[in-house]
This record gives sequence, structure tokens and C-alpha cells, in this order.
Amino acid sequence: MISETTKFARVVIPSPLKQPLTYAVPRGARQQISVGTRVWIPLGRRKVIGVVIELLGTTSLTEIKEIEAILDERPILDSKLLRLARWISQYYVASLGEVLATVLPSSLRPQSKRTVFARAGAFSFSQMLDERVFESLRGSSRGMSCETLMRKFPGDEINRALRRLESSGAIEIHESIPSRRSRSKEVTLAIDPADPDSAARFVLTSEQEIALSAIANRLSHGGFETFLLHGVTGSGKTEVYLRAMEQVRESGRRSLILIPEISLTPQLIDRLNVRFPGRVGVLHSALSGAERSAHWWNIARGNVDVVVGARSAVFAPLPDLGLIIVDEEHDPSYKQEEGVRYNGRDVAVVRGKLTGCPVILGSATPALESYENCLRGRYRLLEITKRIYQRPLPQMDIVDLRAESAHRKSDSGASHTGKGDDHPLVSKRLVKALIENYQRARQSLIFLNRRGFSNFLQCNLCGHVIRCSHCSVTLTLHLQRGSLCCHHCDYRRPITDSCPECRNATLREVGVGTEQIEQSLQRIVTGARVARLDRDTSGKRGVQEKLIRSWENGEIDILVGTQIITKGHDVGGVTLVGALLADLSLNLPDFRATERTFQLLNQVAGRSGRGDDPGHVIVQTYAPDHYVFQYLLSHDYKGFFELELEFRRALSYPPFSRLVSLCIDGPKVAEVESQAKKLAAHLRERHAANSKYRDQIEILGPAPAPIAKLRGRYRWQLLIKAKQISALLEFANIARELLPRSSKARLHIDVDPFNML
Ligand code: ADP
Ligand code: ZN
Repeated sequence: MISETTKFARVVIPSPLKQPLTYAVPRGARQQISVGTRVWIPLGRRKVIGVVIELLGTTSLTEIKEIEAILDERPILDSKLLRLARWISQYYVASLGEVLATVLPSSLRPQSKRTVFARAGAFSFSQMLDERVFESLRGSSRGMSCETLMRKFPGDEINRALRRLESSGAIEIHESIPSRRSRSKEVTLAIDPADPDSAARFVLTSEQEIALSAIANRLSHGGFETFLLHGVTGSGKTEVYLRAMEQVRESGRRSLILIPEISLTPQLIDRLNVRFPGRVGVLHSALSGAERSAHWWNIARGNVDVVVGARSAVFAPLPDLGLIIVDEEHDPSYKQEEGVRYNGRDVAVVRGKLTGCPVILGSATPALESYENCLRGRYRLLEITKRIYQRPLPQMDIVDLRAESAHRKSDSGASHTGKGDDHPLVSKRLVKALIENYQRARQSLIFLNRRGFSNFLQCNLCGHVIRCSHCSVTLTLHLQRGSLCCHHCDYRRPITDSCPECRNATLREVGVGTEQIEQSLQRIVTGARVARLDRDTSGKRGVQEKLIRSWENGEIDILVGTQIITKGHDVGGVTLVGALLADLSLNLPDFRATERTFQLLNQVAGRSGRGDDPGHVIVQTYAPDHYVFQYLLSHDYKGFFELELEFRRALSYPPFSRLVSLCIDGPKVAEVESQAKKLAAHLRERHAANSKYRDQIEILGPAPAPIAKLRGRYRWQLLIKAKQISALLEFANIARELLPRSSKARLHIDVDPFNML
């Protein structure tokens, strides 16, 4: 039936292009083509890959080109994922092509390969560059790929040179279609054999039972519903997920579970492997392109019952999806900060809605937005207030760093160079607790949300601070790497003693990072095995995982780390947690700074006392009177939530309003500034002219972004704010039309922004 009426296909290519393109379906391919399959299409002088989004019997267009080849024998995207992609495109103000480029793993979007050959004969050239390009092509009989040529002749001019050479007949350009990939290859991941103990069946606590039965009920009746599982750290949330997933499996359906950072959670994967042996698909960023596409097809063919992965796994092509879980739903890593800036948690909820299956969001410290959604009746709140076996929540103590440093000064003016000396950022109280804990053969966790050795270098004489040449931030001293590094663009330069400004050897280190603390603790707690886990540790594949395993096995006494140590580990031997500079994240220019601090500290505190011995947490801060610490000390999420919500209401910040950030960046500061001001003026005009906008939308800015330059591009920001998202999306679309893409200034639209820097 379809094959007779299908003559044309609407195709989307991974690009900002707004409209899909229409192509003729070759007669012989009408049986084979379907919505969601990938095709090769001619586009101008190139051939590109696209995805069929619609099949047509007729078209009013004349001049129609034909599809070159169909790449899949079955759709790579099913209709529900396509609907989800459409929703994302509208909500996050991106073209469907950009969204598909985000949804599909990159290995599934091969580019055609262009090879350039020189023709034989004598040619004359109007430009020097043309001649040089031609000469180097002539030297290679097998031609050169376009990428090689671009590398040899950097700059935009090469493309024009190729066009001139081609039209004069001096060169030929061949396009080739990459060969089909083998997709059925089974991929097995190296995972440690699971601990047989973890297969043991617990009797659920009554709170777990109540939460599970609400979910189970929904599962057996079918349909969409979002649950917020608010359970204190160590309360057995994961166990609830696992049981719900088992029920899904029994009904012949499949589950998807998202976690913030997969390499940090080998334990969860073990637990999944025990419950669903041989039926777990793991998606993580360390997978190679080939592995990723093999996984994709494996999942699409229904070869696994469970998929676990980070943010982008929300697009895993599971057929018969019956349940979606988002663990640690408050985690900022669910928000994509480049390209299509989607929030994986929110997309998960929409996917559940489109699929008609329940969604569970879990956290000990839910995002204010999520909790508020429960109050408004959009999500159903399930609570677990007690830890397993009624284990107590850790005892929390606060150390006032101001008093500590005053004390130190009067003490002796100690330096931290000699053996056995302490460190100015590790209070006496914490040192004592660390030594005692080590002597009792218990494990300790030290949290400092700043990696490197020192924060930056500053000249004692002239005050000069060493900064990144591409970003408006300071460079961080990394002793182990032997360099000064930019944490934004990874620019590195060698460590120097002398000030680049005044040439005196008067640079001093300012601020403390995890590397320094690791070193100091090795000295302070004699004999202890100290290790560090932060983004610098990860480097090679599996390194983090090994470190976490030895931490779990009790082979490390003290683990120092950044916020990545706060996530999800369940290690029974940990009884002491120290947060060194707890107010670090309080001072960011971001309306979520307090919420974020509360979540981080609660999370890291929750790593302690999960075994038989109770936990103890020492929080060091310069701002002990800040309200965040009062609620933290009493483990009072609701109290914190209510007060914080009042502040948000007073300032009309989310969840009492919605935000869209419009960021303009470009290589020249004057150009960026003038474009931002022009855009703002246009938007204000529209705003004044239309009462709908005037009544609803507030325009803030434009102003330079807090990080005014990033990776060589200057940045200006406009923030638009309204009660309802729909007006904002209309407005963002207007901005998008007003500022077309150019190399001088680019517009980045961020709906529900998370990162305000
Ligand atoms: P959360 O995800 O809330 O931090 P977990 O699900 O990881 O907590 O549970 C913490 C620990 O308690 C795990 O080691 C888990 O195996 C164990 N556990 C969970 N539920 C029970 C139960 N009902 N009885 C005994 N132990 C349990
Ligand atoms: Zn930089």
C-alpha cells in the first residue's frame, strides 16, 4: 500500500536549517524507505546524511532531486522518539536538524568524504593560493581529503580557492559514501563480577513498601505519571527503583535509568547486572563510536531490558519503554550546556508523557522546581524519611574558619612547609577527627570543590594575576601536571617563578586546591593511604573506576575530592566527612547558589555513616551564620525548601517565573556589544508594541556575562523572564530571526538556564 503512494520524502539534515527538504524516492526504494530511516541526499554540491521525517504521495515542488541511498533497513528513530525530537526542537528553540544531531550518537551521522584530485594539463591561476593548492595536489596521486587541505591551508580562503580551481577545470572533487557499519556486533563491557551478596533479597522497610506500591499501582494500571521519590541519603531509593524495574520486566516491557555520572557508579551497574543478568545496556561517554552505534542498534532491537546511562541516554531507543528513572534528579549535569541546551530530567518527563509510562525522579535534595511541582499537584511526592535499619543521619558540626585563622595567627605564625605541620585549611578539630578515624581503621572523605594545587598565582610586588589568554578567568596551578591550566578551555602554560608583568621572582600562590590538600594530608595523618578523585584523576578509561573500587574495598583511608565524590557511592566504612570550604559555592552570582550549596553539602554528608558505625560531618566555613548551615545541621530539607522558596517568590525567580537566557558571543568585543545592544533594542521595541509581551515579559540586560570571555569569544547576555514559558519561547524565536548566524556574533538560546555564568 504505502509503497505505491510513497513518492517523496521530507528529510531533515543535522544543521540549523529550519525547513525539512523534499526529495524524490527512487522507484526501487519505495518498499524499503520508512519514516525514521537515514538517507544520503545531494545538497548543492555536497552529499549529506539526513533522516526521513515524513513520506508524501505528491508535492507541489518542481525540480526535485532524488535520494541517493537508503542507509538503514529499519528506522533508526521510532515515531515516539521523533515526536520527542519535535518537542525538544520547539521547547529549546533549535531546528529539528540540530536536535537530531544531538539525539543520534555521532557515529551514526557519518559525513561524506570528499577527495580532491589535480587534473593533468597546464592551467593559469589568478591567485597565489590557487597555485600552491594545485601544486601540492599534483604531488599526490591519490588525491587529498578536504580535511587535509584545510589543515595545510588554514583559513576560509581555501574553500574559495577550491571553488575557483574546480570551475576552471584544474581539479576534480569526488564524494564517497562511507561503507555501512556492522551493527549487530555484540558489545560486552568489562564489568567486575557482581558481588553475590547483593543478590540477597531484603525485606523492604515500610516506607520503601509504601513508595513502591504507589509506583507498582501506576505500572499495573498503565499510563503516565511523575513521581518524586524524596528519600534521605542511604534510605534505599535504589532498591525501590530496582523492584519497580523488575515489575516492568515481568510485564514484558523495558526500563531506562539515568544517573549523573556513569563512571562513578560501578556499584549501581553491579546491582543491575545481578537483577537483570545479560540484559543491561550501559551507555557512557567513554564508549568508542563503534561501541556506541552497536549499543544503539542492540537497544533498538530489544536485546536489553534495562538501559543505564548519563544525560544523553534519555534518547536510548528502547522499544516498549515502560518506566523511566532519573536518579539524583537535582544534579546540574543533566543540563546540556552546549548546542541544544536540553535538561535530561525534563526531557525524561516529557518522554514518559509521550510514551505513556511513569517517570520516577529520585533525590535526597530535590530541585526546588521539582518539589514545587509536587505542591502544585503535577508530580506525586513519595517520601522515605529514615535510613535503612533506622541508622541515624550523620552528626553535623560546624567549624568557624574566621575564628580558626585568628587563633592560628596568635598561635605561632606557622607555615605549612615543615614535616608534621598542619595546613591552614584543615582545622584543628578536623585534624584530630581524621587521625582518630584513621586509628580506628575507618575511612574519611574530604570535600573541596576546587581542583589543582593553588587557585592562581599573583605577583606580590605589582599585583599581576596570571590569567588565561582565551578566557577571562585565572589559571590554576597544577603541580602534578607541571603547568598552569585554564579550567574552561584547557589552555596550559608552564609554571613560572617570575611575574610576566614586572619580571620579579615574586609570584605567590593564592587559594587551595585538592592537590595541595592531598599532599598535606599525607603529611598530617602519618601512615594513612590518601588518594584524590577529581576531574584530573579521570584521564584514562577505567582509572576512576579502579579508584572507586579500591575506595569501596577499604584500600584507601582518606579520599580527597571535588563534587564528584559526593555522588551516589555507598561505602559502609566511611564514618567521617570534612567539607573544607563549604561556602565556596555560596558566593557565585547565581540565584541557585544557596540551593546548590545545600544539595552539595547534604550529598557529601550523606556518604558517611552508611555502615554499622554512625557518621560524623565537619563543615568548615567563613559564613557559619548563613541560613543554609542551620538547615544543613538539622537535616531539614523542608525547612530549607520553604525559606528558599520565599526568597525566590520575593525576587520572582524560578519556580515562580521562567527564564530564557540569550547569550551573544563572538571574537571581537565591540561587535558583540553592538549586536547585543541592537538585539535588545529590537526586542524592547517589539515588547512595547505588543501588550501581550508587555504584560508578561521582563527584559533584563544586555550586560557582559559574568565570564566575559570564554574560549576566545566575548560574551554578552540578555535575560528574559515571564510567568509562562510560552510567551518567552515566542520571544526567543523573534530573537533568533533578528540575529542570523554569522561568524562575527552568534546567538545561544538557553531555555531554563542552569549555568548563569
Ligand atoms: P539510596 O539510593 O537511598 O542512597 P540505597 O538504595 O543505595 O540508598 O541503599 C543503601 C544501602 O542499603 C544499600 O547497600 C542497599 O543494598 C541497602 N538496602 C536497601 N534497602 C534495604 C532493605 N530494605 N533492607 C536492608 N538493606 C537495604
Ligand atoms: Zn581558557
